[in-house]
Amino acid sequence: MKIDHIEIHPVSIPLNHPYKDANRIETHSRDVVVKLTESGGASGWGAGSPRSFPTGETQASAMKILQENLVPLLKGKNPFDMEVIHEEMNAAIPFHYAPKSAVDCALHDLQGRMLGQPVYNLLGGKVRDEMPSFDILPLEPPEKTAEIAAAAKAAGTTAFKVKMNRDIRQSVTRVREVRRAVGDETMIVVDANTTWTPKLAVSVCAMIEEYEVTMVEQPVPGHDLEGMEFITRNTRVRIGADESMRPDYMAELMRRRAADVVNIKVNREGGLLPCKKAAALAELHGIEGLCGSVIQGALIDAAAAHLFASTPAIVYNESGKAPAWHQNDIATGLRVENGMVKVPEGPGLGVEVDEKAIRHFFPQD
Ligand SMILES: [Mg+2]
Repeated sequence: MKIDHIEIHPVSIPLNHPYKDANRIETHSRDVVVKLTESGGASGWGAGSPRSFPTGETQASAMKILQENLVPLLKGKNPFDMEVIHEEMNAAIPFHYAPKSAVDCALHDLQGRMLGQPVYNLLGGKVRDEMPSFDILPLEPPEKTAEIAAAAKAAGTTAFKVKMNRDIRQSVTRVREVRRAVGDETMIVVDANTTWTPKLAVSVCAMIEEYEVTMVEQPVPGHDLEGMEFITRNTRVRIGADESMRPDYMAELMRRRAADVVNIKVNREGGLLPCKKAAALAELHGIEGLCGSVIQGALIDAAAAHLFASTPAIVYNESGKAPAWHQNDIATGLRVENGMVKVPEGPGLGVEVDEKAIRHFFPQD
């Protein structure tokens, strides 16, 4: 029971439509994929999606870290020695969460396949079978955003994330128009992606309170924990931390209670084991969890589904978009029905990876 073969692959999976927020435009899910095979012949797959914003990771840097820092320490390891492997990865190189996440998810998939159990049974067991996923509305003019929201609502979406930026007048109008388009019963959360100052955030929260916004996510830069605390204490709207939920900020964030909701991302926390620790920390502080997502393929979404399925502290979800975002993907088997993301039931992560598709989606740029 030793890891004796390791493969790593970059994949760039085209999006059906470009994705736009306050900081960037994306055309592909640019993931890195890890396949681990143990001496008995079982294999497990995992992926991570490196983000230049806000962690400074790229697909090329993630591949280099895997090759030079992480793959060498995995050879000969017992795939169940999760804590040891995380300790050694963090000792080998700090930060670089996406490649560590790819390794962690591949280990969980491998363990589940060796035991014939879905990963949620390795994470504490299942507390739910499915969750709705926020539909993330692109940063478009208010009327166009509202049209997109109305069409998605008609197709079954029950919750929306509206992006905002420094154009406050247009951003507030966007929220108003989306609320008008989707009606009173539909959940709306807002994401400012770090573009405001603390005082401005408090003002904007007061302006959009009447539109029954469930949460305003990351109004100020991730490192500004004092600003997050100020905003959280000075508005009735729930404040969410996303860019502030880096592993090196989160203990201080929660100690200060500088957010009401924390966005826990498999990819950014460094895998499922660190996510479970982050969720435990949130639960102990009375802070709600959100199962987060970046632009990512179905292999990462599957891992996220096992996280929300096994974690009571997670009460919101935005993962599970891969089947809608991509016409083709490297992994199949993740089901989304009537806006509900279903946790896969097979062994491991419960999705199947197509090795031919991995070659097909080799990055061209
Ligand atoms: Mg966000």
